[in-house]
Amino acid sequence: MKVAFVGLGNMGGPMVRNLLKHAHTVTVFDLNAQAVREAVDAGASPAMSAKVAASGAEFVITMLPAAQHVRAVLGGEDGVLAGIERGVTIVDSSTIDPASARAMAELARSQGNEFVDAPVSGGTGGAAAGTLTFMVGGSTESYEHVKPVLSSMGKNIVHCGDTGTGQVAKLCNNLILGITMAGVAEAMSLGEKLGIDPAVLAGIVNTSAGRCWSSDTYNPYPGLIETAPSSRGYTGGFGTDLMLKDLGLATDAAKLAKQPAFMGALAQQLYQAMSANGDGKLDFSAIIKLYRASEG
Ligand code: NAD
Repeated sequence: MKVAFVGLGNMGGPMVRNLLKHAHTVTVFDLNAQAVREAVDAGASPAMSAKVAASGAEFVITMLPAAQHVRAVLGGEDGVLAGIERGVTIVDSSTIDPASARAMAELARSQGNEFVDAPVSGGTGGAAAGTLTFMVGGSTESYEHVKPVLSSMGKNIVHCGDTGTGQVAKLCNNLILGITMAGVAEAMSLGEKLGIDPAVLAGIVNTSAGRCWSSDTYNPYPGLIETAPSSRGYTGGFGTDLMLKDLGLATDAAKLAKQPAFMGALAQQLYQAMSANGDGKLDFSAIIKLYRASEG
């Protein structure tokens, strides 16, 4: 298919490479010229704007930091909706709040286009390996329509329900992730201070009740998992400021739903402290630095 892709960051870049591997024709746009060059080197065509990228596309995918970027890229003067043909579906894989996703869907529908929210989990490793999970919010018809293209980038393409429910699933998942990462960091650091080899401790945890993705796939202790950001100076993963954004989405949603989010609010403050210390661009697993003096 002819796919327009906007947002070539840590996630979007590798997602585009997988679309190309599956023989889709991909036209890309990003504000970052270096990111565009890398996508072009992999076989994509560059466009001067989101509007130009979307014109003639059979499918549009956006992978942007937050709701304000999605709003600008879709609705702006040089945006997707200014260039797209009627009947083309827009898939937004950014993590944004469910209300903004529903507003984007309304806007797209008002000019004859479908919009589905399809945020992902699986991290940069999953984006590179083409094993992401897509959480799709939209009609059954839209879900069936987007599934084959999303399958080029992911292993699990799950229909969550109507528009916005993909984002609901995502913010609940990241609420857990932000909390478990803080827990694993606290325990790994404590274990080290109490004298156990961190590799032995991680091995025990990963076959015991403490096992979770934050321990067995993305352990924050440096050097234990070769592919994890902790083994490369906490670079190239899921930025702390993005985790902070997601926990903000979760606690805001909890406020709207009139339920407490005790753990989420605490985790949010921990990542806020990291960000205030100047570590907002580091992978969120660098939260272990709050515990380990040797990590700064
Ligand atoms: P990123 O910051 O690495 O990339 C975002 C890209 O969007 C950048 O290249 C930036 O230049 C581009 N951009 C911003 N505004 C733009 C505009 N107006 N026009 C064109 N391009 C624009 O972010 P990321 O890590 O790739 O994450 C993207 C989204 O995916 C976020 O919503 C994030 O929460 C979510 N997410 C990230 C991960 C992860 O592990 N990194 C995992 C799951 C979900």
